[in-house]
Amino acid sequence: MGDHHRTPHRTLLRDGLVIDTDPQPAVRPHTDVLVEDGRIAAVGTRLPVHDAQMIDAREMIVLPGFVDTHRHLWQTILRSAAVDASLDGYLSRILDRHARRLTPADVHTGNLLGALECLDAGVTTVQDFSHIQYTPEHSAAAVLALRTAGIRAVFGYGYPVFDEAARQADRVRRVRTEHFPSRDGLVTMALAPLGPSFAPIGTAREDWLLARELELPIAVHVHAGPVAQRPIAALQEAGLLGADTLYVHGNSLADPELKLIADSGGAMAITPAIEASMRFGPPMVGRLRRAGITTGLGADAVTSAPCDMFSQMRAALMSGHFEDGPDGGPDEGLPLTVPDVLRMATMGGATALGLDHAVGSLGIGKRADLLLLRADAVNLAPVVHDPIGAVVLAAHPGNIDTVLVEGRPVKRGGRLTHQGLGGVLTEARQVAERLREADAAAAAEAEE
Ligand SMILES: [Zn+2]
Repeated sequence: MGDHHRTPHRTLLRDGLVIDTDPQPAVRPHTDVLVEDGRIAAVGTRLPVHDAQMIDAREMIVLPGFVDTHRHLWQTILRSAAVDASLDGYLSRILDRHARRLTPADVHTGNLLGALECLDAGVTTVQDFSHIQYTPEHSAAAVLALRTAGIRAVFGYGYPVFDEAARQADRVRRVRTEHFPSRDGLVTMALAPLGPSFAPIGTAREDWLLARELELPIAVHVHAGPVAQRPIAALQEAGLLGADTLYVHGNSLADPELKLIADSGGAMAITPAIEASMRFGPPMVGRLRRAGITTGLGADAVTSAPCDMFSQMRAALMSGHFEDGPDGGPDEGLPLTVPDVLRMATMGGATALGLDHAVGSLGIGKRADLLLLRADAVNLAPVVHDPIGAVVLAAHPGNIDTVLVEGRPVKRGGRLTHQGLGGVLTEARQVAERLREADAAAAAEAEE
């Protein structure tokens, strides 16, 4: 279909303080970014551009959007419902008791609120590990919410942890055909099975083969525990290791396990705030860097941890400083730096999700997923000495003035552009109150 003479839709971000993230984070003052039909068309000084919508970026820091590689968006309606909880407490309260109560409508509300929260905080891409697929209606609601929000997302079809019956291959196949007929688009699909740390290897094998049959990437929680001390070796022995797999947490994995991941081309998602608060094991940024494993960051569970990428970057940095190097002291050979964690929050995450061709940096031709921070905010000014340091150490979501996804503004002037935000907030409160009451009633009954 010939549409060659149409004028492309252009937006010019004029004269910003631009931070690109590839190959390493670098600052480019007084720089323009030209967006053409949703893609980055040029980055440079004083670009000669006509017929473009202008965004004045003079008092702004311009960055590629953040990539959250591991988050359970449905849990947004359970925000702060498992504060100070251990892993066992979180599992029984959130994944056992509360999860069973959620209707498809509740999942829609949680996912939509969570996706809007991401966009508000500059997270333009999220891997939604959605282990709430009780019925096909739950799946439809979860996917619809992601599409409605206008976020770039990888919908990770996950089986409910405490419901064997919901693990049905044909349902996964149907979601793949009905909701994801093509492999492109803003929302794509992955499989998020229980995996070898929580299920017998025969079960994992069925899931891995299903993912490959449907050409879905895999996201999986891993740890060394009672089911498998060496879950990655178990996958290797079953002939299942591949570059299509994103491993989550893994703090308790031994070094040979990490080597297997590295050799297979797999990637890791770490969620430093949750890993510390639920005591998953020592921080592991340094080990992952030494092993040469692509690493992204994630918020994981907003039931129990902060939710924005600034918090994740700081948690990664600070916990990483506690980690010993190979000789027991600080790792002098590969010290963890502020630019390193910014790269993890952008390019690292994009690569971990297999989306580095599309997002993660300001590379020409990439999708224009961008965020603009107000450099004149009182907690950021003066942005003079080290803009990368200011973003990583001092910024918060309230500093974000504008967020673009494929060039479309989803936040402008500090406000989300989504029309139904008020309704989503009302629904979320109603769902949360209903869940709290149900939990209180169940607790009272248990005491009798
Ligand atoms: Zn998780």
